[in-house]
Amino acid sequence: MLIEERLKELKDKINGIVPKGITVSQVEFEGPELVIYTDDPKAFAEQADLIKVLARDLRKRIVVRTNNLKDPETAVSEIKSVVTENAGITDIFFDADTGEVLIEAEKPGVVIGKNGATLREITKHIGWTPKVVRTPPIESSTIKQVRQYLRSVKDERKTFLRAIGRRIHRDIISKDQWARVTMLGCCREVGRAAFLLSTPESKVLIDCGEKPGSNNGTPYLYVSEIYPLTQLDAVVLTHAHLDHCAYIPLLYKYGFEGPVYCTPPTRDLSAMLQLDYLEVVRKENEKIPYTSNEVKTYVRHSIPLNYGNVTDIAPDIKLTFHNAGHILGSAVAHFHIGDGLYNVAFTGDFNYSKSRLFSPATTQFPRLEALFIESTYGGSNDVQPARREAEERLYQVIKTVIGRGGKVVIPAFAVGRSQEVMLALEEGIRLGKIPKTPIYLDGMIREATAIHTTYPEYLNNELRNQIFREGMNPFLAECFVQVDSPDFREKVISGDPCVVITTSGMLNGGPVMEYLKGCAPDAKNALVFVGYQAEGTFGRRIQKGWRELPIGGREMIRIELEIVTIDGFSGHSDRRELMNYVGHVQPRPEKIFTIHGDENKTIDLASSLYKRYHIETHSPLNLETYRMI
Ligand SMILES: [Zn+2]
Repeated sequence: MLIEERLKELKDKINGIVPKGITVSQVEFEGPELVIYTDDPKAFAEQADLIKVLARDLRKRIVVRTNNLKDPETAVSEIKSVVTENAGITDIFFDADTGEVLIEAEKPGVVIGKNGATLREITKHIGWTPKVVRTPPIESSTIKQVRQYLRSVKDERKTFLRAIGRRIHRDIISKDQWARVTMLGCCREVGRAAFLLSTPESKVLIDCGEKPGSNNGTPYLYVSEIYPLTQLDAVVLTHAHLDHCAYIPLLYKYGFEGPVYCTPPTRDLSAMLQLDYLEVVRKENEKIPYTSNEVKTYVRHSIPLNYGNVTDIAPDIKLTFHNAGHILGSAVAHFHIGDGLYNVAFTGDFNYSKSRLFSPATTQFPRLEALFIESTYGGSNDVQPARREAEERLYQVIKTVIGRGGKVVIPAFAVGRSQEVMLALEEGIRLGKIPKTPIYLDGMIREATAIHTTYPEYLNNELRNQIFREGMNPFLAECFVQVDSPDFREKVISGDPCVVITTSGMLNGGPVMEYLKGCAPDAKNALVFVGYQAEGTFGRRIQKGWRELPIGGREMIRIELEIVTIDGFSGHSDRRELMNYVGHVQPRPEKIFTIHGDENKTIDLASSLYKRYHIETHSPLNLETYRMI
């Protein structure tokens, strides 16, 4: 069926569902959404459940727009008369092409109202479809740039979304029914995550990351299964860490034109980390794989999805993201293939214990036949101490080092570990468990923190309530001091005892290298590892006991400072949690693939899961393809 005929059929169906008197003038696909144009936005808005009924009956995500739009000036005053002042509206932007009005507010909940009542009231008055975003409580240049950029390319984006919408809803041609997964990286190793899910109709790439500690460690992107990249329907990104997203912009350089699905915080964090990654590579005098232009292209092609939204991404594939508990916006990606044919989920990196920031990863799926599970801590000895114990140990180390007049340098991923450590230290100081000392933040940490406070709905309940109900934002505590210039950094390095949290987390570049150079010769100082150190990184070498290291090519530094590793801060599930997670996953999968772990760990986890649960398990190799059905 031609797409025009399908749209006409949908329009007739919609006219059959909506009450008499409401006219539907046009329907159009835009990305995964079905847009309904009506001349009666008021009537639509008055029927609170109508959109829900349409979404259920048509099994589509529905957006309603109108051609009867009030002029923006009148609309602004009407919005302000409907929304109470305590919403703290900071910006209102009208997009005449989509009929949407973007309202940026300090308290989006007030603009939305109970069950969306205030939003419907706005639509009734002005015709424009309101969309609400939160004003970042800590200013974030990334969020500002992403929002401004998306506004500036709205025409291109609309054309893109329409083309993608038509592509998603094309006819299913093949009579065959199969699904398979090809491993393009991240098997029996940590890093360069990339998996190709293919069916007779569609191809979807899950993640496309770098391998930390290796030069240009790309996934196997040149194999015939994935070429040409124009045939790829979509990329699905589980979370913003570079070992999952660093090479997504590269795909656009080599001809990919499709969308990247991810959660809204993942879009912002990944763009920030990709730009930072280019900076780090440039400083190391290595060849940069792509430029900031390709990062922009990626942002322009991203389609943000919140947890729980079932979304068509190809004619025979539906995607739903679920909380993964690993970092802000991290998701377990669940794929429903065919009409009930097969279901496969990729955990991405996940944490099955509650952390200071996030709830544990989801275990409930509507259906599930195959599970791809990360195995970073999958070895039988990889049992991590409880978070509380880890925090107490960190407090002890800080007390000792500060007491002897030293500095504590904590290398941490800008996203995830840094915020967990910040919250632990803020509480430590508040409760008098560690001395009142400045905690310097260097690198992208403050920016990443600002993005965290922009998306509190992705944080766990306690932290969200603390920030928004009690007005106590621990990230804003006065102990945290941003290092914003090389001069200031020099002063910190030569100054009084303090704590520094800085990037990169595995000492493969970034400001941490300056702190290491400055602090390494003095045995009073300490370098404290709180995160995973991949094979081949400086971090791993130091952990292994290397005491002389070449930094920046030639210069050798002698390591005299104390080296401490504190386990238990990880954003990953440890061995016990990985085993428990599988026991709690509902429904129970038929097959499990252990990935994203060193060789012995993926094999160990696969055999232990088989022994305990009698589920078929595999520890695949890179470049292998498994038939799911
Ligand atoms: Zn990760």
